[in-house]
Amino acid sequence: MTTIDVPRATSRPKALNAIESALEQFDRAADHLHLSDESRAILRVPKREWTVNFPVTMDDGRVEVLTGYRVQHNMARGPAKGGIRFHPATDIEEVRALAMWMTWKCALVNVPFGGAKGGVTVDPRALSPRELQAVTRRFATELQGIIGPEIDIPAPDVGTNAQTMAWIMDTLSMHAGYTVPGVVTGKPVGLGGSEGRADATGMGVMFTAERALAEAGIDINGATVAVQGFGNVGEAAARLIHERGGRLVAITDIGGGVANPDGLNPAQLKAFLKETGSIAGAPGTQPIDNETLLALDVDLLVLAALEGQITSANAHQVRARVIAEGANGPVTPPADPILADLGVVTVPDILCNSGGVIVSYFEWVQNLQSFAWSADEVADRLQRVIFTAYDEVAALRESKGIDARLAAHAIAVSRVAEAQQIRGRYP
Ligand code: GLU
Repeated sequence: MTTIDVPRATSRPKALNAIESALEQFDRAADHLHLSDESRAILRVPKREWTVNFPVTMDDGRVEVLTGYRVQHNMARGPAKGGIRFHPATDIEEVRALAMWMTWKCALVNVPFGGAKGGVTVDPRALSPRELQAVTRRFATELQGIIGPEIDIPAPDVGTNAQTMAWIMDTLSMHAGYTVPGVVTGKPVGLGGSEGRADATGMGVMFTAERALAEAGIDINGATVAVQGFGNVGEAAARLIHERGGRLVAITDIGGGVANPDGLNPAQLKAFLKETGSIAGAPGTQPIDNETLLALDVDLLVLAALEGQITSANAHQVRARVIAEGANGPVTPPADPILADLGVVTVPDILCNSGGVIVSYFEWVQNLQSFAWSADEVADRLQRVIFTAYDEVAALRESKGIDARLAAHAIAVSRVAEAQQIRGRYP
């Protein structure tokens, strides 16, 4: 018999106040740019947002009513773009912040997209494969008419992957009656996904971290590196940094952490993770917790987990030379000046982790043209686009004597405000 049960996620912890961080960063950029009151009023709030509640039948016959969100922050420069996350702590405020950050990220790297984000408040690890597919397909159905190749194009984020995108693409295609590859990016390569998309965010983290290390006089070859998070972003970043000669001394993931001062092997950790569900306890490693990892004396600290990891409470403990923000919003605004005083250089999230959306843009272009590029072509173009943004941020940072986060936000916000302004008022 089918019974209605309370959703699994009602006891979720409050999302980490990402919206306060996003608004503070925006206000700082708006002040720097002397942005008009009109532009501020438009850009401070999302253009559109939806909350959907939908039932899903679980394997044991119970029905759970789940909650999902899609927020389109701004579409002045093109269709909205941004991932979908499945996480127990996701709520509307977190999704609003992430959508705003996507607007700035797309503008900073100059791809013709606005910003959006989606999420379902659910722990994907607690779902069976059938339940996961049912949640995804039903959420995709709720997004019908809201997303599309010319409207808003989702992609993977925390707790989702290429398979999730394949199910969304299939669901929307079944409804359309024909295949719509451009409705999502980050699809499997066999289904119109782009070569290089799976590693793209991690590759961008590696490229930008290498540049920031070089600016600090440190060669990535031989640099000591700690990585928080071993998911899509952290694993790829760790592997690519390791290939460049970086020495991975500590990595944490959701199940624990591993350390080895002589260096960890990311391929072995990935195999161990596949077998056991966590990197914790991998042979030849010592355990390490998150707090200790964040305070390690390393050349490079890669933050590739969630927002709000370095705050005013722990920023003064940081001993890394460079922080690469593979995650969105991992350092809160009150922590920024503390890190700056310590001489820590931060590669801001909207630059550091933009490799994902850059290659998502390439995937969308390839889908619209029904023409696939080679992995080398994707990697070359990714490097060119992200280095252009890096150079622009560095030039503004130097010329105005401001930090990289403010420089990145100032470039992005001014581009979006300009597009908004040129379009004029309707009606
Ligand atoms: N979720 C990723 C991000 O935060 C990728 C978004 C996309 O490819 O659209 O940037």
